[in-house]
Amino acid sequence: MNTQILQFNTKNIRLCAAEISCGGVVAFPTETVYGLGADALNPLAVKKIYEAKGRPSDNPLICHISDKSQIEKFAYLTPAAEKIIDTFMPGPITIILKKKDIVPDIVTGGLDTVGIRMPNHKGALQFIDACKTPICAPSANTSSKPSPTTAQHVYSDLNGKIKYILDGGSCQVGLESTIVDCINLTLLRQGGLPKEQLEALVGALKTNVVSDVPLCPGMKYKHYSPNASVYVALCGENMTKRIIAEYDKSDVKTIILTLGGNYQGRNTLNVGATVSQYAHNLFAYFRMLDEQGYERIICEGVTDDGVGAALMNRMLKASGGKII
Ligand code: AMP
Ligand code: MG
Repeated sequence: MNTQILQFNTKNIRLCAAEISCGGVVAFPTETVYGLGADALNPLAVKKIYEAKGRPSDNPLICHISDKSQIEKFAYLTPAAEKIIDTFMPGPITIILKKKDIVPDIVTGGLDTVGIRMPNHKGALQFIDACKTPICAPSANTSSKPSPTTAQHVYSDLNGKIKYILDGGSCQVGLESTIVDCINLTLLRQGGLPKEQLEALVGALKTNVVSDVPLCPGMKYKHYSPNASVYVALCGENMTKRIIAEYDKSDVKTIILTLGGNYQGRNTLNVGATVSQYAHNLFAYFRMLDEQGYERIICEGVTDDGVGAALMNRMLKASGGKII
């Protein structure tokens, strides 16, 4: 199969919507990362997502909608969900609700709940709207690799496995959505919408989830990893200087990602002036550094609040918890 990267325009949106109607899969941009979408109500189409990604089938997918009124068709609302929908949708937030029978088991990995999200991305909303069905999608990468934040990333992982990639340029947030279970008021994944904003609206959220089924990505499976070994430096100025001094001379091809270019050595790379820019660039840099043959990536840690919490979560997952 030849994979085509398509410009976002009315003609190509129609072409991709037709592909979805025929039971195909299409990669599309959102404000978080690129998604690999299929008709959520067509189990045979959904199966193709798992095949293309090499994703374990007990890891559920998120249903993307273009209109809030669609949610009630697929799930039972809760008071917390209604508040979140009114306040934060469209946006980088996924709500987990008890599913209605119309949602096939393959979408939810056999769970009796469903994840629902409305992306804050004009093109994504036009595409979902044109499909006239909810589009279930995980990130459009090969399972375990860093999530794709450009059409080119999708192409390098899925070339030959899918027909079309809608190209919307680089994703604004660059990290996946925040996931909140609106039945048990539990935060399942840190993401683009900071926990503090959610808690200001719905009160304190639980976070300590222990479960045998993968309620959230990364809980059971390796995630977000480049080929290079990743380490997180829990910083403070002196420590960062020490790390730069120590690893700058190393034989292993090493790069140190720093926030705002505060510290400069031979092998340091400024990932962005702000935590949001760092988050926006992280996955793209992981992929770029792999292409450049780096064997070790050391990430400067950031303060664990706002988007920084999601960024730290992804860096620690990518490192397998290796802190220096
Ligand atoms: P991705 O963002 O690529 O990891 O794919 C979607 C993610 O959404 C899954 O890995 C799950 O963590 C999450 N998700 C989807 N549906 C559910 C659900 N019913 N319960 C908990 N998490 C879910
Ligand atoms: Mg993913």
